[in-house]
Amino acid sequence: MAETNSKTLKVLFVASEALPFASTGGLADVIGSLPPILKREGVDARVIIPYYSMFKQKNLPEISFMFDFRVQLAWRDQYCGIFTAEHNGVTFYFVDNDYYFKRMSLYGSYDDGERYAFFSKAVLDVLPKLENNEGFFPDIIHTNDWQTALVGIYLKQVYRKVDFRYRPIRVVHSIHNIEYQGVFDHCILGDVFDLDQEYASIVDYNGAINLTKGAVVCCDRLTTVSPTYANQIKTPAYASGLHYIINQYAFKTVGIINGIDQDYYDPSRDPDIVKTYKTVSGKAKNKAALQEELHLPVNPNTPMISMITRLTSHKGVDLVVAVIEELLQEDVQFVLLGTGDVGFEAFFKRLASNYPEKVRAMIKYDKALSKKIYAAADLFLMPSKSEPCGLAQMIASRYGAIPLVRETGGLYDTIRYYDEETGEGNGFTFANYNAHDMLFTVRKALTLYREQPERWNALADVCMKKNFSWDIPAKEYLALYEEIINLD
Ligand code: ADP
Repeated sequence: MAETNSKTLKVLFVASEALPFASTGGLADVIGSLPPILKREGVDARVIIPYYSMFKQKNLPEISFMFDFRVQLAWRDQYCGIFTAEHNGVTFYFVDNDYYFKRMSLYGSYDDGERYAFFSKAVLDVLPKLENNEGFFPDIIHTNDWQTALVGIYLKQVYRKVDFRYRPIRVVHSIHNIEYQGVFDHCILGDVFDLDQEYASIVDYNGAINLTKGAVVCCDRLTTVSPTYANQIKTPAYASGLHYIINQYAFKTVGIINGIDQDYYDPSRDPDIVKTYKTVSGKAKNKAALQEELHLPVNPNTPMISMITRLTSHKGVDLVVAVIEELLQEDVQFVLLGTGDVGFEAFFKRLASNYPEKVRAMIKYDKALSKKIYAAADLFLMPSKSEPCGLAQMIASRYGAIPLVRETGGLYDTIRYYDEETGEGNGFTFANYNAHDMLFTVRKALTLYREQPERWNALADVCMKKNFSWDIPAKEYLALYEEIINLD
């Protein structure tokens, strides 16, 4: 049985994905990197995620079986296995059930609501068992996005009413992207979500069940992933319909910027890149190697612009589509890694075949290749329409690929315009969601690249040195946990 100090703050992160086990985007980065930092701050931080079949085969930290039990979800009686692993000093728990989690992809099944309702119940049911087995019972449960929203709803509406052990637990809910709210037809409230009609008002919104709304109502604190986004989601333009609720609960909402794992994203010792480096001059070999690997002309003076992104419209891909052919009239290389909307995927594949000397489009998810691209690129394009926080611009900075972003959400909070007069700033930015504003800014960046290479390199070095670690955000989370722990 693991020994824990009774004064140690115990936090259980509940999420639908976490690096290195399962990842589709920034959420996995956060859940993989924040708990280890909190651990260093003295918090007993642990993580629980589903045991997806796709990571059963991969080369990951050893995962071992702990125990199993049954989970009741309405009329269902389901097997639930609990597995565990250690990674970066953090204990991970995995909720196993092949029927729910043996799928080709993490999300997008017709029964996602049921899958994550099962997961949420399993998380709450396993707590007394973990206390018996491991001496771990959380003071705080930190849920993330709609897939885990039911944990806070069940806890506050059901479990704490019938079992006193659940009463002291506080809930922090984080919105990583408000566009995904977990909206379902009202008719499955009892049959799938196992909630009596008396709880309908907690989750009902705009004529449907909205799990994010329920999480906002039930949590003790609501966080989102940047201060600017915390303000933006109070407005109809950014809240995907939920602004009334966010405004109503603004008193318990706070924006805390994400960090990145600066050990994992470290060009001075990254095993995935061709040549490690500490200053921007070291990028040249990586650029040449990538040009060679992608069969692009190997030319150190041709600026390489890259994008590593989900290909969805809120990432600003439509701006790129609108002006990329104008941009390609110049001496540039454009390297894209991404998956997403089939229309965008087809567009970039076609673009690559139309411009074989200038464009490469890799339509896949490939973590190692992404790091090679960050290490090779001169300019990193991220013109998002909305961006809760964004990690890619920080990762690009760390590898000396100067970010060019639209001033929104976390992009606004992390990247400041480079002022040629004062030398201040750490990237290029534009404000209006307008393709030609973006193109104008790209051209300004290219002018600096071509005409003032010393300044360009100095700026890239500034980017590489910028501290985007979790140190400050982790302290903010810790202060938040400590503030709510004694709430009545
Ligand atoms: P989001 O979470 O909205 O997708 P973020 O910028 O917060 O955007 O995080 C994206 C993360 O996923 C970054 O680490 C980025 O490098 C990575 N990523 C995105 N697309 C790919 C891809 N096709 N292959 C590898 N990594 C990717």
